[in-house]
Amino acid sequence: MSSDNHIIIVGGGPAGSATALSARREGAEVTIVDRKTHVGIPVQCGEAIGKTGPGIAEIEIPEESIRVPIRGFRVYSPALISVDFAEKEPSGYIIDRRVFDKELLARAAEAGSDVLLGAKVIGLKRSKGTVSGVVVRHNGERKTIKANVVIGADGVNSEIARLTGLRRSFKPADIDSCFGYEMVNCNLEFPDLMEFLLGSDLCPRGYIWIFPKGEGRANVGIGIGGGFGEHTAQQYLDHFIKHHEIAKRQLAKAKIVECRVGALPVCGPNEQNVVDGALLVGDAAGHVHPITGGGMGYAMVCGSIAGQVASKCVSKGDVSAARLQEYETKWRKRYGDEFAQSLKLRDLLIETEDETLDRLARIVTGDSVVKMASARKVKIFAKAMATRDRKLISLMRELRKLKMV
Ligand SMILES: Cc1cc2nc3c(=O)[nH]c(=O)nc-3n(C[C@H](O)[C@H](O)[C@H](O)COP(=O)(O)OP(=O)(O)OC[C@H]3O[C@@H](n4cnc5c(N)ncnc54)[C@H](O)[C@@H]3O)c2cc1C
Repeated sequence: MSSDNHIIIVGGGPAGSATALSARREGAEVTIVDRKTHVGIPVQCGEAIGKTGPGIAEIEIPEESIRVPIRGFRVYSPALISVDFAEKEPSGYIIDRRVFDKELLARAAEAGSDVLLGAKVIGLKRSKGTVSGVVVRHNGERKTIKANVVIGADGVNSEIARLTGLRRSFKPADIDSCFGYEMVNCNLEFPDLMEFLLGSDLCPRGYIWIFPKGEGRANVGIGIGGGFGEHTAQQYLDHFIKHHEIAKRQLAKAKIVECRVGALPVCGPNEQNVVDGALLVGDAAGHVHPITGGGMGYAMVCGSIAGQVASKCVSKGDVSAARLQEYETKWRKRYGDEFAQSLKLRDLLIETEDETLDRLARIVTGDSVVKMASARKVKIFAKAMATRDRKLISLMRELRKLKMV
Protein backbone atom coordinates (compact mmCIF):
# COMPACT_ATOMS: atom_id res chain seq x y z
CA MET A 1 0.00 0.00 0.00
CA SER A 2 1.68 3.22 -1.08
CA SER A 3 -1.21 5.68 -1.33
CA ASP A 4 -1.12 8.93 0.59
CA ASN A 5 -4.35 8.29 2.47
CA HIS A 6 -3.41 5.06 4.13
CA ILE A 7 -4.63 4.15 7.62
CA ILE A 8 -3.18 1.20 9.52
CA ILE A 9 -5.43 -0.25 12.16
CA VAL A 10 -3.64 -2.42 14.69
CA GLY A 11 -6.12 -5.02 15.96
CA GLY A 12 -9.00 -6.75 14.20
CA GLY A 13 -11.41 -6.91 17.18
CA PRO A 14 -14.70 -4.98 17.36
CA ALA A 15 -12.89 -1.62 17.67
CA GLY A 16 -10.57 -2.29 14.73
CA SER A 17 -13.23 -3.61 12.35
CA ALA A 18 -15.68 -0.81 13.21
CA THR A 19 -12.92 1.74 12.60
CA ALA A 20 -12.06 0.12 9.27
CA LEU A 21 -15.67 0.06 8.08
CA SER A 22 -16.09 3.73 8.82
CA ALA A 23 -12.72 4.72 7.34
CA ARG A 24 -13.57 2.83 4.13
CA ARG A 25 -16.93 4.61 3.94
CA GLU A 26 -14.96 7.87 3.96
CA GLY A 27 -12.69 6.62 1.17
CA ALA A 28 -9.44 5.90 3.04
CA GLU A 29 -7.14 3.03 2.14
CA VAL A 30 -7.10 0.71 5.14
CA THR A 31 -4.89 -2.13 6.35
CA ILE A 32 -5.88 -4.08 9.45
CA VAL A 33 -2.97 -5.85 11.12
CA ASP A 34 -3.60 -8.50 13.77
CA ARG A 35 -1.13 -10.73 15.55
CA LYS A 36 -3.65 -13.58 15.60
CA THR A 37 -4.36 -15.85 12.69
CA HIS A 38 -8.04 -16.08 13.69
CA VAL A 39 -9.54 -13.05 15.43
CA GLY A 40 -11.96 -13.65 18.30
CA ILE A 41 -10.10 -16.73 19.55
CA PRO A 42 -9.54 -17.47 22.38
CA VAL A 43 -12.82 -15.99 23.55
CA GLN A 44 -12.18 -13.61 26.44
CA CYS A 45 -15.71 -12.31 26.87
CA GLY A 46 -19.14 -12.87 28.41
CA GLU A 47 -20.47 -12.25 24.87
CA ALA A 48 -23.32 -9.90 25.81
CA ILE A 49 -24.00 -7.05 23.42
CA GLY A 50 -26.78 -4.47 23.38
CA LYS A 51 -28.37 -3.24 20.17
CA THR A 52 -27.62 0.41 20.92
CA GLY A 53 -23.84 0.56 20.28
CA PRO A 54 -23.88 -1.28 16.95
CA GLY A 55 -27.00 0.74 16.00
CA ILE A 56 -25.22 4.06 16.56
CA ALA A 57 -22.17 2.75 14.68
CA GLU A 58 -24.49 1.67 11.85
CA ILE A 59 -23.20 -1.88 12.01
CA GLU A 60 -25.63 -4.76 11.90
CA ILE A 61 -24.82 -7.51 14.38
CA PRO A 62 -23.90 -10.50 12.19
CA GLU A 63 -26.92 -12.81 12.34
CA GLU A 64 -24.77 -15.94 12.29
CA SER A 65 -23.07 -14.80 15.52
CA ILE A 66 -26.32 -14.47 17.51
CA ARG A 67 -26.89 -17.23 20.06
CA VAL A 68 -29.91 -15.89 21.97
CA PRO A 69 -31.90 -12.65 22.10
CA ILE A 70 -31.85 -10.98 25.53
CA ARG A 71 -34.72 -8.96 27.01
CA GLY A 72 -33.02 -7.68 30.15
CA PHE A 73 -31.47 -8.77 33.41
CA ARG A 74 -31.90 -9.83 37.00
CA VAL A 75 -29.46 -8.45 39.58
CA TYR A 76 -29.14 -10.21 42.94
CA SER A 77 -27.99 -8.16 45.90
CA PRO A 78 -25.70 -9.88 48.44
CA ALA A 79 -28.73 -11.19 50.40
CA LEU A 80 -30.34 -12.26 47.09
CA ILE A 81 -32.90 -9.49 46.83
CA SER A 82 -33.56 -9.42 43.13
CA VAL A 83 -34.07 -6.44 40.85
CA ASP A 84 -35.44 -7.22 37.40
CA PHE A 85 -35.45 -5.36 34.13
CA ALA A 86 -37.21 -7.05 31.24
CA GLU A 87 -38.44 -5.42 28.07
CA LYS A 88 -41.06 -6.87 25.74
CA GLU A 89 -38.67 -7.02 22.82
CA PRO A 90 -35.01 -8.10 22.89
CA SER A 91 -32.64 -5.22 23.60
CA GLY A 92 -29.51 -7.23 22.93
CA TYR A 93 -27.99 -10.63 22.37
CA ILE A 94 -25.58 -13.20 23.64
CA ILE A 95 -23.32 -13.77 20.68
CA ASP A 96 -20.48 -16.07 19.73
CA ARG A 97 -17.36 -13.89 19.62
CA ARG A 98 -15.52 -16.38 17.41
CA VAL A 99 -18.10 -15.76 14.72
CA PHE A 100 -18.81 -12.12 15.59
CA ASP A 101 -15.20 -10.87 15.39
CA LYS A 102 -14.48 -12.82 12.23
CA GLU A 103 -17.66 -11.65 10.48
CA LEU A 104 -16.98 -8.01 11.33
CA LEU A 105 -13.45 -8.43 9.99
CA ALA A 106 -14.85 -10.11 6.87
CA ARG A 107 -17.17 -7.15 6.33
CA ALA A 108 -14.27 -4.74 6.72
CA ALA A 109 -12.33 -6.76 4.13
CA GLU A 110 -15.35 -6.92 1.80
CA ALA A 111 -15.56 -3.15 2.07
CA GLY A 112 -12.03 -2.96 0.69
CA SER A 113 -9.71 -3.12 3.71
CA ASP A 114 -6.54 -5.16 3.43
CA VAL A 115 -6.05 -7.64 6.26
CA LEU A 116 -2.69 -8.91 7.46
CA LEU A 117 -3.03 -11.72 9.97
CA GLY A 118 -0.30 -13.30 12.11
CA ALA A 119 1.51 -9.96 12.11
CA LYS A 120 2.48 -8.60 15.49
CA VAL A 121 3.20 -4.90 15.74
CA ILE A 122 6.45 -4.46 17.65
CA GLY A 123 7.37 -0.86 16.91
CA LEU A 124 6.37 2.46 15.40
CA LYS A 125 7.95 4.34 12.53
CA ARG A 126 8.19 8.09 13.03
CA SER A 127 8.94 10.92 10.63
CA LYS A 128 9.91 14.23 12.24
CA GLY A 129 8.22 13.11 15.47
CA THR A 130 4.94 12.13 13.79
CA VAL A 131 3.90 8.46 13.78
CA SER A 132 4.15 7.34 10.15
CA GLY A 133 3.88 3.57 10.20
CA VAL A 134 4.37 0.37 12.15
CA VAL A 135 7.06 -2.25 12.44
CA VAL A 136 5.62 -5.77 12.37
CA ARG A 137 6.96 -9.26 12.82
CA HIS A 138 5.30 -11.44 10.19
CA ASN A 139 6.32 -14.94 9.10
CA GLY A 140 9.54 -14.56 11.09
CA GLU A 141 10.46 -11.36 9.24
CA ARG A 142 10.57 -7.80 10.45
CA LYS A 143 8.81 -5.35 8.11
CA THR A 144 7.91 -1.69 8.16
CA ILE A 145 4.52 -0.61 6.84
CA LYS A 146 4.04 3.07 6.15
CA ALA A 147 0.83 4.88 6.99
CA ASN A 148 -0.56 8.37 7.26
CA VAL A 149 -2.34 7.47 10.48
CA VAL A 150 -1.89 4.50 12.84
CA ILE A 151 -4.90 3.51 14.91
CA GLY A 152 -4.29 1.40 18.00
CA ALA A 153 -7.27 -0.93 18.40
CA ASP A 154 -5.08 -3.53 20.03
CA GLY A 155 -6.93 -4.18 23.24
CA VAL A 156 -6.22 -3.93 26.94
CA ASN A 157 -2.46 -4.53 26.66
CA SER A 158 -2.14 -2.14 23.74
CA GLU A 159 1.36 -1.93 22.31
CA ILE A 160 0.40 1.25 20.46
CA ALA A 161 -0.70 2.86 23.74
CA ARG A 162 2.67 1.97 25.25
CA LEU A 163 4.74 3.03 22.22
CA THR A 164 2.97 6.38 21.85
CA GLY A 165 3.14 7.03 25.60
CA LEU A 166 -0.63 7.56 25.69
CA ARG A 167 -1.22 4.94 28.37
CA ARG A 168 0.21 5.25 31.82
CA SER A 169 0.98 1.84 33.32
CA PHE A 170 -1.95 0.19 35.07
CA LYS A 171 -2.22 0.02 38.84
CA PRO A 172 -3.68 -3.32 40.05
CA ALA A 173 -7.03 -1.70 40.89
CA ASP A 174 -7.32 -0.30 37.34
CA ILE A 175 -7.94 -3.80 36.06
CA ASP A 176 -10.65 -6.38 36.66
CA SER A 177 -9.36 -9.88 36.61
CA CYS A 178 -11.91 -12.08 34.84
CA PHE A 179 -12.46 -15.79 34.64
CA GLY A 180 -15.31 -17.68 33.02
CA TYR A 181 -16.64 -20.97 31.78
CA GLU A 182 -18.88 -21.95 28.94
CA MET A 183 -21.12 -24.64 30.44
CA VAL A 184 -23.60 -27.13 29.04
CA ASN A 185 -26.50 -28.98 30.75
CA CYS A 186 -27.52 -25.83 32.60
CA ASN A 187 -31.03 -25.51 33.94
CA LEU A 188 -31.48 -21.77 33.60
CA GLU A 189 -34.42 -20.07 35.25
CA PHE A 190 -34.39 -17.14 32.82
CA PRO A 191 -33.42 -18.19 29.28
CA ASP A 192 -33.62 -14.62 27.96
CA LEU A 193 -32.32 -12.62 30.92
CA MET A 194 -28.77 -12.05 32.07
CA GLU A 195 -28.19 -12.71 35.75
CA PHE A 196 -25.73 -10.74 37.88
CA LEU A 197 -24.79 -11.45 41.48
CA LEU A 198 -23.12 -9.03 43.87
CA GLY A 199 -21.47 -9.47 47.25
CA SER A 200 -18.16 -8.58 48.86
CA ASP A 201 -17.46 -12.21 49.85
CA LEU A 202 -18.78 -13.64 46.61
CA CYS A 203 -16.89 -11.38 44.19
CA PRO A 204 -14.96 -8.44 45.69
CA ARG A 205 -15.45 -5.24 43.63
CA GLY A 206 -17.10 -7.07 40.83
CA TYR A 207 -19.88 -9.41 39.95
CA ILE A 208 -20.66 -12.92 38.86
CA TRP A 209 -22.58 -13.34 35.62
CA ILE A 210 -24.74 -16.09 34.20
CA PHE A 211 -25.56 -15.40 30.55
CA PRO A 212 -27.84 -17.82 28.69
CA LYS A 213 -26.56 -19.17 25.38
CA GLY A 214 -29.54 -21.30 24.40
CA GLU A 215 -30.02 -25.07 24.44
CA GLY A 216 -28.98 -25.42 28.09
CA ARG A 217 -25.71 -23.60 27.59
CA ALA A 218 -24.45 -20.59 29.50
CA ASN A 219 -21.48 -18.32 30.00
CA VAL A 220 -20.77 -18.24 33.71
CA GLY A 221 -18.06 -15.88 34.80
CA ILE A 222 -16.65 -13.48 37.32
CA GLY A 223 -14.76 -10.21 37.32
CA ILE A 224 -13.01 -9.04 40.48
CA GLY A 225 -11.06 -5.87 41.12
CA GLY A 226 -7.28 -6.24 40.91
CA GLY A 227 -5.84 -6.39 44.44
CA PHE A 228 -9.28 -7.05 45.94
CA GLY A 229 -10.11 -10.27 47.80
CA GLU A 230 -7.92 -13.11 48.98
CA HIS A 231 -8.47 -15.61 46.21
CA THR A 232 -8.13 -15.76 42.46
CA ALA A 233 -11.08 -15.04 40.20
CA GLN A 234 -11.25 -18.74 39.32
CA GLN A 235 -11.33 -19.75 42.99
CA TYR A 236 -14.20 -17.36 43.67
CA LEU A 237 -16.10 -18.66 40.65
CA ASP A 238 -15.54 -22.33 41.50
CA HIS A 239 -16.72 -21.68 45.05
CA PHE A 240 -19.86 -20.01 43.72
CA ILE A 241 -20.64 -22.87 41.33
CA LYS A 242 -20.19 -25.47 44.05
CA HIS A 243 -21.83 -23.82 47.03
CA HIS A 244 -24.14 -20.96 46.10
CA GLU A 245 -27.89 -21.61 46.10
CA ILE A 246 -28.44 -19.80 42.77
CA ALA A 247 -25.77 -21.98 41.17
CA LYS A 248 -27.08 -25.16 42.80
CA ARG A 249 -30.52 -24.47 41.30
CA GLN A 250 -29.22 -23.86 37.81
CA LEU A 251 -25.80 -25.42 37.40
CA ALA A 252 -25.92 -28.59 39.51
CA LYS A 253 -25.63 -30.81 36.43
CA ALA A 254 -23.67 -28.39 34.30
CA LYS A 255 -20.38 -29.33 32.72
CA ILE A 256 -17.53 -27.05 31.72
CA VAL A 257 -16.60 -27.13 28.04
CA GLU A 258 -14.42 -24.01 27.84
CA CYS A 259 -12.38 -21.81 30.21
CA ARG A 260 -11.90 -18.11 29.62
CA VAL A 261 -9.40 -15.77 31.21
CA GLY A 262 -9.04 -12.07 30.58
CA ALA A 263 -8.43 -8.62 31.94
CA LEU A 264 -10.60 -5.53 31.71
CA PRO A 265 -9.46 -1.92 31.99
CA VAL A 266 -12.08 -0.48 34.36
CA CYS A 267 -10.27 2.74 35.30
CA GLY A 268 -11.98 4.87 32.69
CA PRO A 269 -10.53 6.20 29.43
CA ASN A 270 -6.93 7.37 29.04
CA GLU A 271 -6.51 11.08 29.64
CA GLN A 272 -5.55 11.56 26.02
CA ASN A 273 -5.93 9.23 23.05
CA VAL A 274 -4.31 11.10 20.18
CA VAL A 275 -0.75 12.05 19.27
CA ASP A 276 0.66 13.31 15.97
CA GLY A 277 -0.17 10.57 13.45
CA ALA A 278 -1.85 8.09 15.80
CA LEU A 279 -4.89 7.50 17.97
CA LEU A 280 -6.33 4.80 20.23
CA VAL A 281 -9.76 3.21 20.31
CA GLY A 282 -11.64 0.46 22.22
CA ASP A 283 -9.97 -1.25 25.18
CA ALA A 284 -6.68 0.39 24.17
CA ALA A 285 -8.29 3.77 24.89
CA GLY A 286 -10.07 2.52 28.03
CA HIS A 287 -13.51 2.57 26.38
CA VAL A 288 -14.97 0.12 28.89
CA HIS A 289 -17.81 0.74 31.33
CA PRO A 290 -16.19 0.86 34.80
CA ILE A 291 -19.11 -0.97 36.45
CA THR A 292 -20.51 -3.39 33.88
CA GLY A 293 -17.18 -4.09 32.15
CA GLY A 294 -18.99 -3.93 28.80
CA GLY A 295 -16.74 -2.72 26.00
CA MET A 296 -17.92 -3.98 22.61
CA GLY A 297 -20.61 -1.35 22.03
CA TYR A 298 -18.33 1.54 23.03
CA ALA A 299 -15.51 0.09 20.90
CA MET A 300 -17.79 0.06 17.84
CA VAL A 301 -19.20 3.56 18.32
CA CYS A 302 -15.81 5.14 19.14
CA GLY A 303 -14.28 3.12 16.30
CA SER A 304 -16.75 4.54 13.82
CA ILE A 305 -15.91 8.08 15.02
CA ALA A 306 -12.17 7.29 14.82
CA GLY A 307 -12.44 5.99 11.24
CA GLN A 308 -14.38 9.02 10.12
CA VAL A 309 -12.09 11.62 11.71
CA ALA A 310 -8.85 9.85 10.72
CA SER A 311 -10.00 9.60 7.09
CA LYS A 312 -10.92 13.26 7.02
CA CYS A 313 -7.53 14.22 8.48
CA VAL A 314 -5.52 12.12 6.00
CA SER A 315 -7.50 13.41 3.04
CA LYS A 316 -6.77 16.99 4.16
CA GLY A 317 -3.09 16.12 4.64
CA ASP A 318 -3.01 17.14 8.31
CA VAL A 319 -2.69 14.33 10.84
CA SER A 320 -1.39 16.44 13.69
CA ALA A 321 -2.69 15.73 17.18
CA ALA A 322 -4.49 19.07 16.99
CA ARG A 323 -6.56 17.84 13.99
CA LEU A 324 -7.04 14.30 15.29
CA GLN A 325 -8.32 15.84 18.52
CA GLU A 326 -11.72 16.06 16.79
CA TYR A 327 -12.00 12.31 17.47
CA GLU A 328 -11.28 12.83 21.17
CA THR A 329 -13.82 15.64 21.37
CA LYS A 330 -16.53 13.69 19.56
CA TRP A 331 -16.32 10.45 21.53
CA ARG A 332 -16.06 12.35 24.81
CA LYS A 333 -19.18 14.33 23.91
CA ARG A 334 -21.07 11.06 23.60
CA TYR A 335 -19.57 9.01 26.45
CA GLY A 336 -17.29 11.25 28.55
CA ASP A 337 -19.86 11.95 31.30
CA GLU A 338 -21.09 8.35 31.32
CA PHE A 339 -17.59 6.99 31.96
CA ALA A 340 -16.69 9.69 34.51
CA GLN A 341 -19.93 9.35 36.50
CA SER A 342 -19.84 5.55 36.41
CA LEU A 343 -16.32 5.59 37.76
CA LYS A 344 -17.43 7.77 40.68
CA LEU A 345 -20.46 5.56 41.26
CA ARG A 346 -18.30 2.43 41.16
CA ASP A 347 -15.95 3.92 43.77
CA LEU A 348 -18.91 4.82 45.97
CA LEU A 349 -20.38 1.33 45.68
CA ILE A 350 -17.03 -0.24 46.68
CA GLU A 351 -17.31 1.64 49.97
CA THR A 352 -20.92 0.53 50.46
CA GLU A 353 -21.53 -2.38 52.84
CA ASP A 354 -23.43 -5.42 51.60
CA GLU A 355 -26.35 -4.69 53.96
CA THR A 356 -26.78 -1.23 52.45
CA LEU A 357 -26.73 -2.71 48.95
CA ASP A 358 -29.52 -5.04 50.08
CA ARG A 359 -31.53 -2.06 51.32
CA LEU A 360 -30.86 -0.25 48.07
CA ALA A 361 -32.07 -3.31 46.13
CA ARG A 362 -35.38 -3.11 48.03
CA ILE A 363 -36.10 0.40 46.80
CA VAL A 364 -34.76 0.44 43.24
CA THR A 365 -36.41 -0.81 40.07
CA GLY A 366 -34.65 -2.37 37.10
CA ASP A 367 -35.29 0.84 35.23
CA SER A 368 -33.34 2.81 37.89
CA VAL A 369 -30.44 0.35 37.61
CA VAL A 370 -30.30 0.93 33.84
CA LYS A 371 -30.40 4.69 34.36
CA MET A 372 -27.71 4.65 37.05
CA ALA A 373 -25.42 2.51 34.89
CA SER A 374 -25.68 5.09 32.14
CA ALA A 375 -25.15 7.95 34.62
CA ARG A 376 -28.71 9.25 34.38
CA LYS A 377 -30.57 10.67 37.38
CA VAL A 378 -33.01 8.40 39.25
CA LYS A 379 -35.90 9.28 41.54
CA ILE A 380 -35.20 7.20 44.64
CA PHE A 381 -34.25 9.85 47.19
CA ALA A 382 -37.67 10.15 48.83
CA LYS A 383 -38.10 6.39 49.01
CA ALA A 384 -34.68 6.04 50.65
CA MET A 385 -35.46 8.79 53.19
CA ALA A 386 -38.72 7.03 54.08
CA THR A 387 -36.78 3.92 55.16
CA ARG A 388 -35.04 6.00 57.87
CA ASP A 389 -32.04 3.77 57.33
CA ARG A 390 -29.00 5.84 58.31
CA LYS A 391 -26.52 4.16 55.96
CA LEU A 392 -28.88 4.15 53.00
CA ILE A 393 -29.65 7.83 53.56
CA SER A 394 -25.95 8.62 53.75
CA LEU A 395 -25.44 6.72 50.45
CA MET A 396 -28.24 8.84 48.94
CA ARG A 397 -26.49 12.02 50.08
CA GLU A 398 -23.33 10.88 48.31
CA LEU A 399 -25.36 10.04 45.20
CA ARG A 400 -26.95 13.46 45.38
CA LYS A 401 -23.48 15.04 45.36
CA LEU A 402 -22.91 13.13 42.11
CA LYS A 403 -26.27 14.48 40.85
CA MET A 404 -27.47 10.91 40.38
CA VAL A 405 -30.57 11.14 42.59
C1 LIG B 1 -13.82 -12.03 30.64
C2 LIG B 1 -14.34 -10.85 29.91
C3 LIG B 1 -15.72 -10.74 29.71
C4 LIG B 1 -16.22 -9.67 28.96
N1 LIG B 1 -17.54 -9.64 28.70
C5 LIG B 1 -18.04 -8.65 27.92
C6 LIG B 1 -19.41 -8.66 27.56
O1 LIG B 1 -20.17 -9.56 27.88
N2 LIG B 1 -19.85 -7.65 26.78
C7 LIG B 1 -19.02 -6.62 26.35
O2 LIG B 1 -19.48 -5.71 25.64
N3 LIG B 1 -17.73 -6.61 26.68
C8 LIG B 1 -17.21 -7.61 27.43
N4 LIG B 1 -15.88 -7.62 27.72
C9 LIG B 1 -15.04 -6.54 27.18
C10 LIG B 1 -14.82 -6.76 25.68
O3 LIG B 1 -14.37 -8.06 25.44
C11 LIG B 1 -13.81 -5.73 25.15
O4 LIG B 1 -14.18 -4.45 25.61
C12 LIG B 1 -13.76 -5.74 23.62
O5 LIG B 1 -13.29 -6.96 23.14
C13 LIG B 1 -12.84 -4.61 23.16
O6 LIG B 1 -12.65 -4.69 21.77
P1 LIG B 1 -11.27 -4.18 21.13
O7 LIG B 1 -11.44 -4.37 19.66
O8 LIG B 1 -10.91 -2.87 21.69
O9 LIG B 1 -10.14 -5.19 21.69
P2 LIG B 1 -9.97 -6.75 21.48
O10 LIG B 1 -11.26 -7.41 21.27
O11 LIG B 1 -9.11 -7.19 22.62
O12 LIG B 1 -9.14 -6.86 20.12
C14 LIG B 1 -7.77 -6.45 20.08
C15 LIG B 1 -7.12 -7.13 18.89
O13 LIG B 1 -5.80 -6.59 18.77
C16 LIG B 1 -4.90 -7.63 18.46
N5 LIG B 1 -3.56 -7.23 18.94
C17 LIG B 1 -3.16 -7.01 20.20
N6 LIG B 1 -1.86 -6.63 20.24
C18 LIG B 1 -1.43 -6.62 18.95
C19 LIG B 1 -0.17 -6.33 18.34
N7 LIG B 1 0.90 -5.95 19.06
N8 LIG B 1 -0.05 -6.45 17.00
C20 LIG B 1 -1.13 -6.82 16.24
N9 LIG B 1 -2.34 -7.12 16.78
C21 LIG B 1 -2.50 -7.01 18.11
C22 LIG B 1 -5.44 -8.83 19.22
O14 LIG B 1 -4.98 -10.04 18.64
C23 LIG B 1 -6.95 -8.64 19.06
O15 LIG B 1 -7.47 -9.32 17.95
C24 LIG B 1 -15.35 -8.67 28.46
C25 LIG B 1 -13.96 -8.78 28.68
C26 LIG B 1 -13.47 -9.84 29.41
C27 LIG B 1 -11.98 -9.94 29.62
